[in-house]
Amino acid sequence: MNTDEIIKMGDACVMKTYGRLQMALVRGKGARVWDADGREYLDFVGGLAVNSLGHCHPAVTRAIADQAETLMHVSNLYYIEPQVKLARLLVENSCGDRVFFCNSGAEANEAAIKLARKYARLKGNGGYEILTALNSFHGRTLATITATGQTKYQQGFEPLPQGFRYVPFNDMAALNEAVAPHTCAVMLEPIQGEGGVNEADPGYLRQVRDFCSQKGLLLIFDEVQCGLGRTGKFLAHQHYGVEPDIFTLAKALGGGFPIGAMVAREEVAAAFVPGDHASTFGGNPLACAAGLAAVNQLINHGVMDNCTRVGDYFKEKLQALAGRYPFITDVRGKGLILGVELSVDGRELVKRCQDNGLLINCVNNNVLRFLPPLIITGDDVDRAVSIIERVMGEVS
Ligand code: PLP
Repeated sequence: MNTDEIIKMGDACVMKTYGRLQMALVRGKGARVWDADGREYLDFVGGLAVNSLGHCHPAVTRAIADQAETLMHVSNLYYIEPQVKLARLLVENSCGDRVFFCNSGAEANEAAIKLARKYARLKGNGGYEILTALNSFHGRTLATITATGQTKYQQGFEPLPQGFRYVPFNDMAALNEAVAPHTCAVMLEPIQGEGGVNEADPGYLRQVRDFCSQKGLLLIFDEVQCGLGRTGKFLAHQHYGVEPDIFTLAKALGGGFPIGAMVAREEVAAAFVPGDHASTFGGNPLACAAGLAAVNQLINHGVMDNCTRVGDYFKEKLQALAGRYPFITDVRGKGLILGVELSVDGRELVKRCQDNGLLINCVNNNVLRFLPPLIITGDDVDRAVSIIERVMGEVS
């Protein structure tokens, strides 16, 4: 099928929940993708932080093919070898002790919310409310749109579940004021992705940790977008020397295969007993074989070092552009989660980059967000920046 045929068929029968660009991607390799008409693009969207190893990484495709021929699915009624190995790899590389596997970021956060409430009921302060940040994003289920501190995701879906309240990000005084006897946890993204690539102040995360410990609240970090090497460390919070009680993962965890995880320290995880939470597909052999291969690549093959090196280089180049184009008002982010804030609408730039063979993304209509594979090279960055510069010159 060519692009027009795919779009026509999609418009006729796929539910219209996405504002899609008029293109259909059919093949990918490394940091490059091809559309249905054979055009090549440099991919700086990276499946929105999923394709951290690039497209069709051989270690991941091999692991999936081998596992698919061996055992694709069995129930969690049984122990599953790739699942226990992936859980061990995650706990060996984090402050967490136990892992619950699911299929997406929203599900990982749902699991974290349930665990925080159950822990509070059994061992904590008996509260149920979770404080989250304005401009956060935690998913699209009813509980996670309510945890999300942006009303645009909530409107039309009321009544929303109870038990969430919002505070401005990076504002310790507001958190102090908001806490109530029925609060049981604070949930934050160390770097807000959908909210516009907003970094937590290092001092803020440390203060929030101390605050939670003093008040008997759990600290939950949503690392679904910023975790798994994206910032140059395995987990974004590892930059800050702050350990959460629970953290959540998804996106890059399966190297392109759907899988999510909720990780907690032992005492907190113990609040879940058999029957409390479950997922038919969560942690199935195929997903975990993909996850094992992907996380192994991330940790043991220099991917995070490359992310830091190339990410710093890319950020410098973007800062240089900011010196030339006054409509760039800020350049921010860490590693290869980078944002360029504009005083103009960014959607035209996204379209023009696409016409020039570069895929980028824009959040809130005014922040260009870059989430390329972590394996990109300096040459890929040079090529991307030359396209961005050309289209910025066209619109200015
Ligand atoms: N949390 C964060 C920080 C995210 O960026 C996202 C998705 O963008 C989610 C949760 C939801 O993940 P999913 O779309 O896999 O449910």
